[in-house]
Amino acid sequence: MRQIQHFIDGELASGHSTERGEVFDPTAGYQQAEVALGDEQDVADAVNAAHAAFGPWSHLTPLRRARILFKFKSLLDENRDALARLIASEHGKVFSDAQGEVTRGIEVVEFACGMPHLQKGEHSLNVGNGVDSYSLYQPLGVCVGITPFNFPAMVPMWMFPIAIAAGNTFVLKPADKDPSVSVRLAELLMEAGLPPGVFNVVQGRGPTANALITHPGVAAVSFVGSTPIAKHIYTTAAEHEKRVQALGGAKNHMVIMPDADLDGAVDALMGAAYGSAGERCMAISVAVPVGEQTAERLRNKLSEHLENLRVGPSLVDGPDNDMGPLVTAEHLERIRSYIASGVEEGADLVVDGRKRSFDTNPSGYFIGGSLFDHTRPGMRVYDEEIFGPVLCMARAQDLESAIALINANDFANGTAIFTESGYAARRFSEAIEVGMVGINVPIPVPMAFHSFGGWKRSLFGPLHVHGPDGVRFYTRMKTVTARWPEAAVAHGDAYSMPTH
Ligand code: NAD
Repeated sequence: MRQIQHFIDGELASGHSTERGEVFDPTAGYQQAEVALGDEQDVADAVNAAHAAFGPWSHLTPLRRARILFKFKSLLDENRDALARLIASEHGKVFSDAQGEVTRGIEVVEFACGMPHLQKGEHSLNVGNGVDSYSLYQPLGVCVGITPFNFPAMVPMWMFPIAIAAGNTFVLKPADKDPSVSVRLAELLMEAGLPPGVFNVVQGRGPTANALITHPGVAAVSFVGSTPIAKHIYTTAAEHEKRVQALGGAKNHMVIMPDADLDGAVDALMGAAYGSAGERCMAISVAVPVGEQTAERLRNKLSEHLENLRVGPSLVDGPDNDMGPLVTAEHLERIRSYIASGVEEGADLVVDGRKRSFDTNPSGYFIGGSLFDHTRPGMRVYDEEIFGPVLCMARAQDLESAIALINANDFANGTAIFTESGYAARRFSEAIEVGMVGINVPIPVPMAFHSFGGWKRSLFGPLHVHGPDGVRFYTRMKTVTARWPEAAVAHGDAYSMPTH
């Protein structure tokens, strides 16, 4: 059986722990590899390696650090398809989608290549008589990233390129369901010339993550995953005096106004709801048509499109499928039980993905796309994050009740409105209590040079990831106030508050 290892201090490591996890092939439905599950000693080894590397790495000039990232970026370009195949083979997402994931990760590396500029401080001349004031943005030390299964390359790349470009060292704990790509990224970083110990990977599950976030040698923790774990990571890491940002789950609504281009909105909605089998934190999981007529037309068009949704394995050559299998048999079972609960709670199941038959391997974790109408708060399918190819419709009478419905939700990652009215778009973007808003854009994922993050229970901590917030998160500011007298001049003691 193929073994997936840790990557510590510049090399592959099987680690101290003998515990192993199963990695499945979602398309064929069998175990394809074993992954090491790190224990406290493995965590200590990785943190110690990162700690030892921090001094020399943080003292390297910013340009020399950036040059390694430029090289890493060109290696990622060369290896984009191989990385995408690796992701597809363990996650199950289709090849074209996996390619897109790698591209979005590469964009953060491109952003991080600008760190010599991004890390510059501010300077004020002559804030007092002969006194200057300036700020320094210095690295923190050993930073940790704990990441989810759904973007095994992109989400780690939201974090480590910026962290290491700023002079930090890094320990990544990827999800155990699709861990191979993390090791491949570590190898490419070495090939790019990164010194050993600057980037490390410790494989594992919750206990490994908990050993990392409580380790005294760790300065900062970035987490992306589900809301209950995000909250646990946020409180535990903060209690252990780490800087922490923890991004959680989502229930993203898309409002379709009566004046929207409905065909365009439906095309957008199909990709946003069912792409990557709904296993995206920015997937649209609730469609909110405004007015009964819009709702009826939307329901009919979505049902038609769902019949043509191409569900199947990842295809490298030729036109790809629209969506692949779910990540594990357990996750498939979870989605099936959500659909059953929606029916029990009285939601109107318009299209039942459980009934879809497939020509693919019957053991694969496939399910068709499902559509519920007439869902509302209080139903589990509406309230909870399903994280699968299930779209709920929740009808609203007007724009204000659509806004009120969304604002009443605990999650607040992304949202969108489809309309031709500038007024409606403006009112929506101002009043909505959600971190990322799309106007005629279904998945408003900000580019690498902007920051990504939700509000409310979709993000714990003040700083979002990548973009300007990413630079702030991975640096700490020091403000220096300096006086250089013309000559040694004796001053009398001054006890009053300095004013200028
Ligand atoms: P998850 O919360 O189960 O796991 C995320 C990470 O936490 C993994 O590395 C896992 O090993 C670790 N973990 C699990 N249990 C833990 C515990 N008890 N203590 C400490 N660490 C623990 O999430 P997942 O199923 O891998 O990913 C899907 C979730 O991630 C969804 O909720 C999705 O919305 C969310 N997500 C959010 C964003 C965002 O930007 N907000 C992006 C991607 C995914």
